[in-house]
Amino acid sequence: MSADTPLTEDSAANPAVDGSELIRFDKVTKRFGDNTVLDDLDFSVASGKHVTLIGPSGSGKTTILRLLMTLLKPDEGTIKVGGDYLTHEEKNGKLVPAGDKHIREVRKNIGMVFQQFNLFPNMKVLRNITEAPVTVLGMSKDAAEERARELLDLVGLAEHIDKYPSQLSGGQQQRVAIARALAMRPQVLLLDEVTSALDPELVVGVLDVLRDIARSTDITMLCVTHEMSFARDISDQVLMFDSGRVLESGPPEKIFGDPEHDRTREFLGAVL
Ligand code: ADP
Repeated sequence: MSADTPLTEDSAANPAVDGSELIRFDKVTKRFGDNTVLDDLDFSVASGKHVTLIGPSGSGKTTILRLLMTLLKPDEGTIKVGGDYLTHEEKNGKLVPAGDKHIREVRKNIGMVFQQFNLFPNMKVLRNITEAPVTVLGMSKDAAEERARELLDLVGLAEHIDKYPSQLSGGQQQRVAIARALAMRPQVLLLDEVTSALDPELVVGVLDVLRDIARSTDITMLCVTHEMSFARDISDQVLMFDSGRVLESGPPEKIFGDPEHDRTREFLGAVL
């Protein structure tokens, strides 16, 4: 998407939501020492869809998001985002490991919200949101600020624009982090257990904002969450992970209502 694309543009006119494949993992293996965390993993996410990764702790869900953020590299296999290899680049007709410049370009399409909000503590809310669009995308300060105001409206924090992160609750900080990720106009938003560091009473506000974004924008979402009712509400597809593999996948009504595997039933029994 270009820097001028409105967040809520008509999906029919937007190639980002034409149902084509936005993310593809092809035979991805990731090991930490002897621990094979992802095992020959294949999966894809179509653009505009909301996909949720569920499964027991340690099954490899966060590793997938970290690979997409290029915080980790796969030991084997390839990852594509928007038709471009994230892990590799083509040079003289050959596929070689991607260089930093290539990785930075492809990664511009990806936004991430972490468990710990990771806001810049020394910057006010407005600058937290405008910093990367100005420095990385080269947006003008005025345009970035206008966009930040729209996004702060979207996450219900317009009146907090001039505060420092430490003056906000955890839930409010997480909503700023969501606005900051969206300010880069990524094609895909990665959400890594974004409510797990929050006090219970602050969880609802953050999930409501994400539901709203899922409903009102055409952004692709890939979420790792333990909030099953949220997963059921927003997902087009749920992937149940077990030991670094997709045990089963399907629409939420199937996975939550009539799963195929006992392992899925056991997991849902423990978390629901
Ligand atoms: P999940 O998100 O499903 O809880 P993770 O992807 O966080 O699972 O972790 C999968 C496995 O990888 C776990 O066994 C975890 O201990 C291991 N792991 C994750 N990150 C590292 C790391 N940086 N070094 C060593 N082991 C790691």
